[in-house]
Amino acid sequence: MENCLFCQIAAGQIPAAKVYEDDQVLAFLDISQTTKGHMLLIPKKHVRNVLEMDGELAQTVFARLPKLARALQQATKASGMNIINNNEEIAGQTVFHAHIHLIPRYGLDDGLQIHFTAHEPDGSALSRLAEQISSEVRK
Ligand code: 5GP
Ligand code: ZN
Repeated sequence: MENCLFCQIAAGQIPAAKVYEDDQVLAFLDISQTTKGHMLLIPKKHVRNVLEMDGELAQTVFARLPKLARALQQATKASGMNIINNNEEIAGQTVFHAHIHLIPRYGLDDGLQIHFTAHEPDGSALSRLAEQISSEVRK
């Protein structure tokens, strides 16, 4: 897609520190280096985010993750890794070409902070919501 930064990187029109490439995906280092080795995995095909992916493309992209994650872990000697995907602006997406972040972790103050706030929903509301989502999945 014209004017898409990651399409341009995938096409080699904009330089990037490439890690892995085949005919379907590209992995390269994120310019921000939130932590050392912060890497992005993208499909070469332009889709906005995971909400726009079909199963086949998801299978192609996500199947590459474990090997890349292990390679990143080995190369950086990180203690662990967060694998994050942001969908839409509210969730922190700034580049609207689907991508998965692989962010090696070295310590609690290494540059990435994730906080999950726990709420206390009542049980029947949870069951209703689960049923609602479930019926969407079956459509
Ligand atoms: P998002 O916020 O959409 O989940 O992530 C987009 C990521 O793309 C950010 O982490 C940002 O640092 C990275 N990024 C933006 N522009 C470039 C660029 O030109 N080259 C590379 N390698 N990464 C970029
Ligand atoms: Zn694109």
